[in-house]
Amino acid sequence: MRLFLYWRLSTAAREAPKVGNSVNRCCRVFKKNPSPGKILKGGISMYILSTKADFDSAHFLKDYEGKCANIHGHRWTVSIDVKGKKLTETGSTRGMIVDFSELKKSLRKLTKALDHSLIMEEGALKKNTEEALSDEGFRIIKFPFRPTAENFAKYFYDKMTEGGYNVAKVSVYETPNNVASFIPDED
Ligand SMILES: [Zn+2]
Repeated sequence: MRLFLYWRLSTAAREAPKVGNSVNRCCRVFKKNPSPGKILKGGISMYILSTKADFDSAHFLKDYEGKCANIHGHRWTVSIDVKGKKLTETGSTRGMIVDFSELKKSLRKLTKALDHSLIMEEGALKKNTEEALSDEGFRIIKFPFRPTAENFAKYFYDKMTEGGYNVAKVSVYETPNNVASFIPDED
């Protein structure tokens, strides 16, 4: 019995599709599954198109106990995956799920809007401090949320979804090693 079970497990392992397997062709990344280890319902295959954009901004975390309470800067990298089950069949985007250049343009428009600024939560600075910084000409962009990588992952997900993209995942890197992702529930 033990041998039989071992054989079954070994066979299953051999026959299991490799998850996260991707092939990079002409800068397009095609993956069978949107994220490693994720099995799609009914075994439906999915195309994933990915791109990245960077911006440089300062932030701080009010009420945080640690060095991130102080103003500091990051090169933020936003990585987006858009998904589609079918490729366009006609026109200039034939064989694509979305136009890669349009996707990059849309993401860069959002990251450019935050570039070289202080991104902060509304009310995180005293009114006088904020006014003094503005008087000095510093660019301040306020958000109704704490400026964490997690919140920005959701922010970029919402903005890109509003822009008509079928977003599978957004990841925001604070550093090359620290990343937060937002993945919506499957519909
Ligand atoms: Zn930080």
